[in-house]
Amino acid sequence: MIPYGRQNITQADIDAVVEVLTSDFLTQGPVVPRFEQALASYVGAKHALAVNSATSALHIACLALGLGKGDYLWTSPITFVASANCALYCGASIDFVDIDPKTYNICPRLLEEKLIEANRNGCLPKVVVIVHLCGQPCDMKKIRELGERFDFRIVEDASHAVGGKYSGEFIGSCHYSDITVFSFHPVKIITTAEGGMALTNDDELAEKLSLLRSHGVTRDTSLMTHEPDGAWYYQQVDLGFNYRMTELQAALGVSQLKRLDSFVRRRHELAARYNELLSDLPLTTPWQHPDSYSGYHLYVIRLQLSKLQNSHRQVFDSLREQGIGVNLHYIPIHTQPYYRRMGFCKGDFPEAERYYSEAISLPIFQDMTDEQQNQVISALREALKV
Ligand SMILES: *Cc1c(COP(=O)(O)O)cnc(C)c1O
Repeated sequence: MIPYGRQNITQADIDAVVEVLTSDFLTQGPVVPRFEQALASYVGAKHALAVNSATSALHIACLALGLGKGDYLWTSPITFVASANCALYCGASIDFVDIDPKTYNICPRLLEEKLIEANRNGCLPKVVVIVHLCGQPCDMKKIRELGERFDFRIVEDASHAVGGKYSGEFIGSCHYSDITVFSFHPVKIITTAEGGMALTNDDELAEKLSLLRSHGVTRDTSLMTHEPDGAWYYQQVDLGFNYRMTELQAALGVSQLKRLDSFVRRRHELAARYNELLSDLPLTTPWQHPDSYSGYHLYVIRLQLSKLQNSHRQVFDSLREQGIGVNLHYIPIHTQPYYRRMGFCKGDFPEAERYYSEAISLPIFQDMTDEQQNQVISALREALKV
């Protein structure tokens, strides 16, 4: 089976992890700060806080921004459930904004319309989580402008987008957002097995994120209510969690980060090759914003079903039967049973549902060979029966 995504691990990665294993610190040592600094300087952000997953990063990002009971968080229905669940962890309410049919990202026009209406009804969101789906950046200038006009905070869920650029700057620079979150799950662009990062340019948010990832506990005397009782002293000044990244994970991260440029370059080569070799087929290849450089975590095609004999499901099943590990990113969140119980219904976000009825994620990963890609393409031709 050719998977839709797969990690790339070298001897240098293995050596880096083994070196940590024989060092003094398996956690809370010098390697996590090294990884944070390396990524912060790569993307051009002031602060980077490593955590044990992007899900944890989203959770503490929302808490740091003050999201709580009675507040709303809005996001796209076409994303992994974690982008929405973070609202519920904080006791806040969730709502969605439908996607743009061309970019598959949150639609800025619909966002504006919904904000105007919410403003009238006095229920504006406190936080909007925007998702750079597949690595393709959202229209950040427009979203930032709306954020200023309607006074909401912006979290970029950039789990798909590390190494990508928007308007000449790396995703993660937080130029247009309060906090950016990356994931290092093995299917993502670089990996630490499990792991995530929250980036920000705001000193106060960085301090909150740092407390929240480790029990709300500090040894920084400037944050304490009084002078330390002694050298052993720490204070709990907030309610936090244990969301820390280990030294082993960070060592893998530092090592992987050195190859990030080449990973994204290879993904672009594969995407360009797909674009060319699929151009005669009844399907839509991913549109790219001219002023952006995608991380290309995913390569999603949309079937033009009116031109096909086979159904979406038949094409998908045929690919799987032919050993192609295709996938579907994502099932619209509002149609999940847990979300339906909150009152969301099928039909609420028609563009997201249309996308779901046509989309297939083809394999794309740094070690994918041209031969493997040819195999995917001929299997797809067979599945489409053209
Ligand atoms: C993978 C992913 C997450 C969750 O990442 P973890 O590191 O596995 O917690 C969140 N949002 C999106 C868009 C993702 O793709």
